[in-house]
Amino acid sequence: MSNSLSVQIVIAGGGIAGLWLLNRLSSEGYDVVLLEKNALGNAQTLASQGIIHGGLKYALGGVLSPASSAIADMPARWRACLAGDDVVDLRGTRVLSEHYYMWSSGSVRSRLKTFLGSKALRGRIDALSAEQYPTFFSEAEAQNTNAVKGTLYQLTDFVIDTPSLLHTLAAPWQDRIFYCSDIKLESETSLLLTHNNSQIKLNADRIILCAGEGNEALLDSWTTDIKKPDMQRRPLHMVSVRVTHEAPAYLHCIGDSFGMTPRLTITSHPCRDGNSKQWIWYVGGELAESGVKLDAEQQQKRVGQELSGLFPWVDFSDASWHSFFINRAEPRIADLQRPDNAHVSECGKVLVCWPTKLTLSPNLGDTVRQLLPPDLKPVGHSSSNQQLAALLPKAVLADSPWEQIR
Ligand SMILES: Cc1cc2nc3c(=O)[nH]c(=O)nc-3n(C[C@H](O)[C@H](O)[C@H](O)COP(=O)(O)OP(=O)(O)OC[C@H]3O[C@@H](n4cnc5c(N)ncnc54)[C@H](O)[C@@H]3O)c2cc1C
Repeated sequence: MSNSLSVQIVIAGGGIAGLWLLNRLSSEGYDVVLLEKNALGNAQTLASQGIIHGGLKYALGGVLSPASSAIADMPARWRACLAGDDVVDLRGTRVLSEHYYMWSSGSVRSRLKTFLGSKALRGRIDALSAEQYPTFFSEAEAQNTNAVKGTLYQLTDFVIDTPSLLHTLAAPWQDRIFYCSDIKLESETSLLLTHNNSQIKLNADRIILCAGEGNEALLDSWTTDIKKPDMQRRPLHMVSVRVTHEAPAYLHCIGDSFGMTPRLTITSHPCRDGNSKQWIWYVGGELAESGVKLDAEQQQKRVGQELSGLFPWVDFSDASWHSFFINRAEPRIADLQRPDNAHVSECGKVLVCWPTKLTLSPNLGDTVRQLLPPDLKPVGHSSSNQQLAALLPKAVLADSPWEQIR
């Protein structure tokens, strides 16, 4: 059986990019549907650390790179969304930590101090006195362990709970979000969907690819003379550890190498069973980049040794460790450098999106909105969602990677 339906805009992919655009364009009155091949957020978005950052970590090399300038406005933009004062309404999204911290333990190069005190960063970073420490560090001070060596900085960055973010974005538009495991790009204005042996031709004025790593296969499925963008992958070996310790940790640990990437980037996430004394510590940073050469046991051991050395006041003896590999998917640029902005390629009427960072979602929304043609007018409703609902199931929200451990 085959069906043919039409909408104004189809989005392929239900991570942060797709759900952000669905929300933004639907609230403006466009007729939009979103198709997800697996479960919402299942790839990079729920594997992300949820840090909404102002780009400072990209300035660690000692200069403000274009990347750090481009995203400097993003924390304020997200705060407006969280307060319901922006076009994407994120009220209801859980903020895990109102601040993010950077800790240069022990031997700090003077270059770091000079740089962090520079005019360029004024207002974006503050060195904290012991009285201003967050609980995680003040409890160590209280135990008089003399553990907090070096300097602790507070950044304008903050941390959100990505499952609640995705829920907030998806909930108002449930009737426009569908699951389909077989999606092909047939032309610049049509997708071919196969489900339960039936085919649906879905026509649209604009198709927006937000499938992360999956954009590559979607573009490969499209035979066209139009030039398509290339993708790059940056592999990571992330570690999660369930630890019994009441105070959560949110911080970059700067190593002696003082490179572009913090040695460790730690976020803490609530356990789904609601045990408030336990947190999932989630560890990325340089150790996750260089750890792609190690197997799971080696990587967990290495991260465990670093954490025990840095935080002697935390008991890791009953901790349970897990690690997994994941790729960041981005547009290909020279030397595997980091892209500076949310990326959108126009391939005829197809828009190919890689936000490159969760943080840059507002920037992605603005860019896509500007690229819609003026003659594509909002119609204030969705025309085909009810017909699609009869043909395709709903897409569900995926679990965080540490919840998927069996
Ligand atoms: C370990 C890690 C930590 C990170 N931490 C941060 C951070 O703290 N802060 C930050 O700003 N950024 C962070 N990032 C980057 C950020 O997570 C990504 O830039 C962002 O999530 C990408 O979102 P996306 O929607 O483009 O892709 P994804 O989240 O990968 O979503 C793509 C979606 O498309 C679906 N899909 C795949 N193929 C198809 C298809 N053919 N048709 C339909 N759907 C399809 C997938 O199932 C998935 O749901 C991190 C990334 C990683 C990997």
